[in-house]
Amino acid sequence: MARMLIGVDLGGTNLRTALLSQDGAIMEKNKESSRASDGHERVVQRLIENIKRQRDIGVSQGHAVMAVGVGAPGVIDIERGIVVKSPNFPDWNNLPLKAELEKALGTTVFIENDANAAALGEQWRGAGKGIGSMIMLTLGTGVGGGIVLDGNIWHGADGMAGEIGHMTILPEGRMCGCGNTGCLEMYASARGVTQNYCEALAEQERPVSDFITSQQVYQAAREGNEAAARAMRDTGRYLGIGIASLINIFNPEMVVLGGGVKDAWDLFIDSTRAEVMKRAFDIPARRARIVPSELGDDAGMVGAAAVALQRTEGKTC
Ligand SMILES: [Zn+2]
Repeated sequence: MARMLIGVDLGGTNLRTALLSQDGAIMEKNKESSRASDGHERVVQRLIENIKRQRDIGVSQGHAVMAVGVGAPGVIDIERGIVVKSPNFPDWNNLPLKAELEKALGTTVFIENDANAAALGEQWRGAGKGIGSMIMLTLGTGVGGGIVLDGNIWHGADGMAGEIGHMTILPEGRMCGCGNTGCLEMYASARGVTQNYCEALAEQERPVSDFITSQQVYQAAREGNEAAARAMRDTGRYLGIGIASLINIFNPEMVVLGGGVKDAWDLFIDSTRAEVMKRAFDIPARRARIVPSELGDDAGMVGAAAVALQRTEGKTC
């Protein structure tokens, strides 16, 4: 009888659940809407049902589930397994998620911040396999970050380390939802891309269209639209400013970029690398490989399972 893990990636949009082997191979997986607006009781109930479904599949194949890991967005008290607050789930204040899940499941559950989990997933089974120290940035609706040092997530004093999206890159820049101005998230997220495009149009004194998505900007850039191409180079440059500081501070072996903006890799990466070489120290800048994520949407589930394995066995992946 093999012992299995369950990894859950609870995002503001999707709830992903997987049954994994102890070496991180996905045996089964499921995705459904997380329906955050339903309120915490129904979301937790849906979490429980999804985990039980994966556990039943494992049991029917003759396996036992040793632990469950859940990656959730927001501020997480990992020791107590409490979601302190979450921008995606407004009614989750000091929600004892670990206790509620353990009571319903009778299995040990560990909670981790979703971006940290994704970083550990890439380090365990993805682009960073075999690498000790790496940093992951997820460029999506926002910019998530996770720092893995010597195979372990770096949590900091309050569990809030790794908020790379809120690194200031322009002191008097765009207003961010966090209250700061000029955060990386405002320039390198999907929304950042569209704003970079609007700025590029304004510079050319061309009218700004009513509504445009980041995907439309990528497509326009590929079709030769100069303002869109410029917006993507700017996105790359802003990202490079942030990554240069990370490289100088952490001297990582790898920087992994995930999330939807990664789809436009060829449109921004040269500007990112040029900016890093310009700003960071030569030796760490040459050392740090900047690569796309390999696990894509699976990174969070795989990482959540890695968290469960590490904390159950005290093992470094
Ligand atoms: Zn911010």
